[in-house]
Amino acid sequence: MGGKVSSMSPAPYDYDPFTSLRQNQFSDEEYENCFRFFDSQKRGFWTREDFRRFISAFFSNKQRPYFMLNDRIEEYFQDTDFNQDEKIDYNEFILAWKTTIKLAVRPISALVIVDVQNDFISGSLALHSCPANHQGEEVVPVINRVIRNVNFDVVAYTYDWHPLNHISFYENRHLRKEAPESPIRADDAHILDTVLFVGPPNLTSTIEQVLWPAHCIQKTPGADLHPDLIRIDNAIHVYKGTNPEIDSYSAFWDNMKLSKTSLDDQLRERFVTDVYVVGLATDVCVSATAMHAVENNYRTVLIEDACRGVNEREIEVKRAELAENGCIFVDSDVVPGMVAGDDRRPEVARGTFVENLKTIGRYHPR
Ligand SMILES: [Zn+2]
Repeated sequence: MGGKVSSMSPAPYDYDPFTSLRQNQFSDEEYENCFRFFDSQKRGFWTREDFRRFISAFFSNKQRPYFMLNDRIEEYFQDTDFNQDEKIDYNEFILAWKTTIKLAVRPISALVIVDVQNDFISGSLALHSCPANHQGEEVVPVINRVIRNVNFDVVAYTYDWHPLNHISFYENRHLRKEAPESPIRADDAHILDTVLFVGPPNLTSTIEQVLWPAHCIQKTPGADLHPDLIRIDNAIHVYKGTNPEIDSYSAFWDNMKLSKTSLDDQLRERFVTDVYVVGLATDVCVSATAMHAVENNYRTVLIEDACRGVNEREIEVKRAELAENGCIFVDSDVVPGMVAGDDRRPEVARGTFVENLKTIGRYHPR
């Protein structure tokens, strides 16, 4: 055997502190080992250079460091060096980084599959008939691949689930009183127009409602999940838009934020930290769900190639809003590494780090 190269090339690391932390349930001892690993002079503290090596090992994808600006690394150094002695001691490391490391290396991740129902794919509100001309069924194989390849802790399916007399149905536009200030009269309205209705007593004075063709009526085939979508046992199932008077795009709250579904409670019971959102439609129920996930303090990731939408311009508007609020956008191929904790993105961990500083009273906005 001429195995000269293979026999001589050393393993890149004989010890990976982050893998080791995960394997040892984040014990105090492993955090100490992690600290020692980067303490090059073995003097019980990190120099700036040690800290830089820690940062590039931590913010990495399968041991390939993410590029980070020097200013940002310096900012992390200053944020960690509580006593400003230009060294990082073990105590500073633990206080500043323990939570952030744990969440990055072992996130608890939920896949929230939004409204992959027949009516949005081949039925009365099929996306291919909407302005963006998207094919809703294209999300199904992508989501199936994600389900198969990614080790999610929790999977949730959401359903648009309307009673026959639902306010969002174009066919029902005469069932309710329109508000005098409505920009469009119910008589003149077309599908996808927005009408202002008088709100139900004691709830709200007016309700702004986009008129959609009747869709996802409870217990009809149109409200079923697409037949090819993989069903996971022990999944969470969330039904929304069940109140005839108020529509609900998000799987967390209705459109007026008057009542919430069980989704948030069920995710918290399972200690979920990260929410990945996929499904239909990007600019309506997917973006609304992602926005509320952000508001509920989940680290929120939208898997773009697993979503299809109604209107391209709206998709761009919602994307910008979500990005501004800290939602991350990725394609499905990178999700396995992120969920495994091997792909640790600076933009995902940043919020956790800042939140932790606030919690321990060490946050100094710049
Ligand atoms: Zn609906």
